[in-house]
Amino acid sequence: MKNKRSREPERVFTGLAAAAGVGTGRVYLYESASDMRVQEVRIPTSKVRFEQHRILEAAARASDRVEGLQNEARKLSGPAGEEIGYLLDAYQQMLSGSRLIRGVQKRIATEHINAEAAVMKEVGLMAEAFASMEDTYLAARIDDVREVGRRLVEALTGETDEPLDRMPQNSVVVARQFSPADTAQLDPNIVSGLVTTVGGVESHTAIVARSLGLPAVIVEPEFLNIARNGDEIIIDGSVGAVILRPTAATRARYRRIRSSLAKDQRALLKIKSVPAVTRDGFAIKLLANIELPTEADAAVDAGAEGIGLFRSEFMFMNRDTLPSEQEQFEAISRVIKDMNGRTVTIRTLDVGADKLGHALGLKPGPNPALGLRAIRFSLSKRRLFLTQLSAILRAAALGPVRILLPMVCTVEEVREVRKVLIKVASRLKRSGVKIPDQLPPLGVMIEIPGAALAADALAAESDFFAIGTNDLTQYTLAIDRADEQVAYLYNPIHPAVLRLIQFSAEAAASAGIPVSVCGEVAGDDRMTPLLLGFGISELSMAPAHILKVKKRILELNLSAISGRVRRVTSESDPARLKSLVAEFAES
Ligand code: PEP
Ligand code: MG
Repeated sequence: MKNKRSREPERVFTGLAAAAGVGTGRVYLYESASDMRVQEVRIPTSKVRFEQHRILEAAARASDRVEGLQNEARKLSGPAGEEIGYLLDAYQQMLSGSRLIRGVQKRIATEHINAEAAVMKEVGLMAEAFASMEDTYLAARIDDVREVGRRLVEALTGETDEPLDRMPQNSVVVARQFSPADTAQLDPNIVSGLVTTVGGVESHTAIVARSLGLPAVIVEPEFLNIARNGDEIIIDGSVGAVILRPTAATRARYRRIRSSLAKDQRALLKIKSVPAVTRDGFAIKLLANIELPTEADAAVDAGAEGIGLFRSEFMFMNRDTLPSEQEQFEAISRVIKDMNGRTVTIRTLDVGADKLGHALGLKPGPNPALGLRAIRFSLSKRRLFLTQLSAILRAAALGPVRILLPMVCTVEEVREVRKVLIKVASRLKRSGVKIPDQLPPLGVMIEIPGAALAADALAAESDFFAIGTNDLTQYTLAIDRADEQVAYLYNPIHPAVLRLIQFSAEAAASAGIPVSVCGEVAGDDRMTPLLLGFGISELSMAPAHILKVKKRILELNLSAISGRVRRVTSESDPARLKSLVAEFAES
């Protein structure tokens, strides 16, 4: 059978590049929770108690298995471990006398069906209820409910072997969807990649795959009808390609790609301590984006000159209570201490749309991406905001800090925050709390098109700019950045986005304030020459991208390309623009 299939022609699928890198191996088909089928069996009244007891026992067994995973997750370092830890806690809650288990028991009694069928029906009902919610965070929890359902059915049917435990070496896991908890079980020494047909490049699963260094691609659902267990496969997470049954020529090409990637990585480590200065002497600041205080170590390891974006909202997520001022102070202080004298830019709470914390009591409006979020939310929840500012100001006594405001759209917002900041500072001083003599610089994110177009006015009120190209692209082009259905239109190299970046950079330069780019394009070395050509001299990115961008800077002669920037921004044809940007990258 295998021989017959191996004579079938090579198939190349192009999808979304969710995590970079190249992996080769054999297809390992994994059935995800929502694909599971169970048989419904009618039971007599005399067996109802027995079935109800079975589900309780199954829940206890599933809970033991999740506990095992929790122990494994604790061994993972950094954001992957924390992310998975929170999820597994949620699974445990659902497995212990929750609405799900009670619902299953009730269904067994009223519908007289077996426990497996009752679980699947209850999960289906809950999934429907979640899907209809306007709250995108809750809607995304459907997958967690399904995952718990799958674990319950496994425990009921006795099929308790975790298929992921017994994967052969060099497996490429192929699944319709794959939960972050499953990802926790993947051993990067055994697994070479992950292919799914559902999800976005910003999903938890993609984040965990990136943390584990596993290439991941999201492809068309048709792929599942074509891939078979054991098929030879190559996954290229850097360009979003998946190749089934590669020919000898493709195999050889990828062998060359892999060895050149490994060589590049070794070469990059040599420039870790080299200053990021262009060939003609322009010094560029390379900074790190972090979500959790524990990531500061990775920033230092990658040679970051500071933190250009600390997404403080992650301290508020996956918890039922708000972090106290002291807790926030300690988390920020940890980053400041780890950065050892390098500047830490702390962004105030950027919640709303896809970023929600239960404890914040956010009520998503009709369009959460355009609603009460980010700085608008902070200004409407004064107590919460004062607490965060107090924590930041206290921590600022320990090392250089900047305060960054998300989703600013008017100068009034900046003025209002400055007033609040001065008030908080004087209150702290009156109470004898140590804070720096000079207030930290107050900057704004340029990530709303209106803010970019009003950048000159905002520059007059701000101490620095950080251009958030992720949201700037989303809002300029009206493309939801986490929706795979419109991902083909998500393009920061759109003339409108580039012009807004350039306009903001020029406004900052005229006002004499520093400007950085901290969206994903900052970590894309093909964009580095153009961004520098716009006059941007600070780039903030995930620590893993810093050395690659630095290499590009060391090779660049900035004076030679500056005169050509106008050609790029006056080009309105997207295809010609793309090739111009590519030309720039080759400069
Ligand atoms: C951005 O929008 O570009 C940005 C850096 O912020 P976030 O990705 O957290 O929205
Ligand atoms: Mg943003």
